[in-house]
Amino acid sequence: MKIVDGIYQVDGVNCNVYLVEDGEKLVLIDTGLFRNDKKIIKYIESLGRKPTDVSTIVITHYHIDHTGSLKKMQEATNAKVAVGAFDAEIVAGKKAAPKPKNLMFRAFSSVIKPAPVEPDVVLKEGDKVGGLTVILTAGHSEGSISLLDTQRKVMFVGDAFRFDNGKLVESPEQFNLDTAKAKESIGKISTFDFDVMLGGHGDPLMPDASKKVKDFYANLK
Ligand SMILES: [Zn+2]
Repeated sequence: MKIVDGIYQVDGVNCNVYLVEDGEKLVLIDTGLFRNDKKIIKYIESLGRKPTDVSTIVITHYHIDHTGSLKKMQEATNAKVAVGAFDAEIVAGKKAAPKPKNLMFRAFSSVIKPAPVEPDVVLKEGDKVGGLTVILTAGHSEGSISLLDTQRKVMFVGDAFRFDNGKLVESPEQFNLDTAKAKESIGKISTFDFDVMLGGHGDPLMPDASKKVKDFYANLK
């Protein structure tokens, strides 16, 4: 589904996966669960593009619903993989992920792990990746990032929070590493100017998204 000119959400995958046009190239934001790769590739082809048009895959955080098809998508696109500094070693399989608070998620992630991928680019605050500006938004995970498209005025927030069933809500506490930090990150996001907010789950928030996020944050504390 097209969100705005040059930005698309891949239909029918688990976690919201986005494609952003960067000139002739495409940037893929997150990769969904296992076996979402075929749907993502089909969607890219439905735009009249090839998987190898994807030059960069950016991961908002290491969780399995965002990295499950990362290895397959890396193989299909030959793209550079970019991950926030604090999650990079987890994605690379060099560091164990913190134990999830949610017991089902804990049991699930102890047996099923995404195939490790060594990131090509480790992202820091203010870095530019595929035309997007990196904003560190720790809390949901230590290395969670948000990405701002300043030209299109679109903010990708990963799982920092979401717009769900018509209202802005925090990510469920049981999936957050540190909810107090996640709240601060919502405040940080609210200081930027954007018209559209796209989360890792839920629906697009538009128009006037940054104003709505400011109001949401003001009522959080
Ligand atoms: Zn998550």
